[in-house]
Amino acid sequence: MRRRDRNDAELRDVIVVGGGPVGLTAALWLADGGAAVTVIEQQTAPGDLPRAISIADETFRIMDFLTICEELRSETLLDTGSRYFGLNDRLLAASKPLPSRSGHPAKSQFDQPVLEKLLWDRAVAHERIDFRTGMRAVGVAQSSDRVSVEVRPAGEDTQSELLVASFLIGADGGKSFVRSAIGTRLVGSTQQERWIVVDLVNVMTPREPYAEFYGNGRRPYVLVPGVKNRLRIEFMLFDGEDGDAMCAPEKIIALCEPIESGVRPEDIRRAVVYVAHQRVAEHYRRGRAFLVGDAAHLMPPFSGQGLNAGLRDANNIAWKILDVLAGRGTDALLDSYEAERRAHGAKMVTVSRRTGDVVMAIGAARTRLRDLLFRAISVVPPVYDYLRYMRFITPPNYADGVAVRAPSRRSPLADAVGRPLGQPTVVFANGETGVSTARWAASGRLCRSGRASASTHGIPTGTGWACVAYACSPRVPGSRASRKPTSPTSSRQPTPWCPCAAKPAQPERRQ
Ligand SMILES: Cc1cc2nc3c(=O)[nH]c(=O)nc-3n(C[C@H](O)[C@H](O)[C@H](O)COP(=O)(O)OP(=O)(O)OC[C@H]3O[C@@H](n4cnc5c(N)ncnc54)[C@H](O)[C@@H]3O)c2cc1C
Repeated sequence: MRRRDRNDAELRDVIVVGGGPVGLTAALWLADGGAAVTVIEQQTAPGDLPRAISIADETFRIMDFLTICEELRSETLLDTGSRYFGLNDRLLAASKPLPSRSGHPAKSQFDQPVLEKLLWDRAVAHERIDFRTGMRAVGVAQSSDRVSVEVRPAGEDTQSELLVASFLIGADGGKSFVRSAIGTRLVGSTQQERWIVVDLVNVMTPREPYAEFYGNGRRPYVLVPGVKNRLRIEFMLFDGEDGDAMCAPEKIIALCEPIESGVRPEDIRRAVVYVAHQRVAEHYRRGRAFLVGDAAHLMPPFSGQGLNAGLRDANNIAWKILDVLAGRGTDALLDSYEAERRAHGAKMVTVSRRTGDVVMAIGAARTRLRDLLFRAISVVPPVYDYLRYMRFITPPNYADGVAVRAPSRRSPLADAVGRPLGQPTVVFANGETGVSTARWAASGRLCRSGRASASTHGIPTGTGWACVAYACSPRVPGSRASRKPTSPTSSRQPTPWCPCAAKPAQPERRQ
């Protein structure tokens, strides 16, 4: 049901500017949770640009909640790794993340337009989403209890319309209008190097499920196989090379020839030049407005983290806004969005820049030095493991956000606080079996009533929190697990734990 404000304007719960993958994920999460959402998108069809190809387990998990995980998985090369090659194409390192406890592979190769279409179609069909395509946001204003957005048809200078909502999410990409309208900016730098990203189809050469990074001192390139005979190849351009001329089909075919011979013009799905940025917004929140995705951070694509980080942003702010709309959360809960997401976003920007530095070395001397250093540090066992298991791509740890640290570092819960939980099938206290919807270890203490309030730990964030106990009984704080999981959702080892909350701090899975 639509609400109206004191000026009789229609009052939405949330306006999302930008119907890219991150904006639509936020919109769907909010709408599934009961919020009335308006999405403003200047395009009239889902994006078809050759961008993200690496997807993290947590992204699958988010899409699982949005009920599009199975369709996405069917278009994805699951459970992949990375290989790094040096001078003379000698293997420097082969990495693969350790199996994730989420029930999804830790790293896979997908196709961003596939995800964008799945999200777009669901958003169009959603009864609580007013999806305004072909519309552009051109103004933003805020008061203590409202945010208003001026919109007008994209590319036209006709009269604008004013939309009003309780909250605004700016998901309008790297050139975000919302970001500047709310008075913040991206800080960081832009890389000098330009790259051509080429997406090929009809590739019949069998390849192992690894993204391969070739830093051979000549022209660095990256090779990423996908499903359904797709292959991504990215080539670094040299100073003085004309980007447009290098994207001509005959040039692309010549560049590809040593890697994938016999490419025909019709096999080139796309070839475009891009320049990578390494930037983070100074603020993720201004009053009632929040930045998510590329509007909040831009990073080189070498670690495949930009979209994954954006989807985590969307998920993080969406459940918090839902809690506030439902009267369970306070303003401090909304503040925790920036505390939790900005630090991890900045970390992923740094990791991506470092990976790029390794890949983009050119010249025999520099490349030889890099290879020597790589081999030297790789003989140190912790470093070897760090590289081998891709530990440099650390999942978020929200111990400094809304979660409360365990009373003691020696507590068995200490390491679990602020980290994502596994998703095994469990037997609940009432005897029912199911997959838990709780996703984060949010509290270091157990709550006998089964209903935890973060305010009991000194943070006035709201009530109705999921308190998740690890390896203990829901009824007896501190005891060992009374019930074990029946079966894990994946082939991973079952993790003994039990949810003891009255309700999870997430919207329920749709039936
Ligand atoms: C070559 C390349 C490879 C990449 N590889 C990976 C990878 O492997 N893994 C990964 O995680 N990430 C990767 N990324 C990054 C990823 O593609 C982006 O992080 C992701 O697309 C960001 O999504 P978004 O929804 O935040 O922004 P966008 O996709 O840019 O969407 C923003 C939307 O806002 C709309 N919009 C803008 N302004 C307005 C306005 N004023 N009014 C209304 N609508 C507006 C736009 O039309 C657009 O639809 C890669 C990027 C590139 C370029």
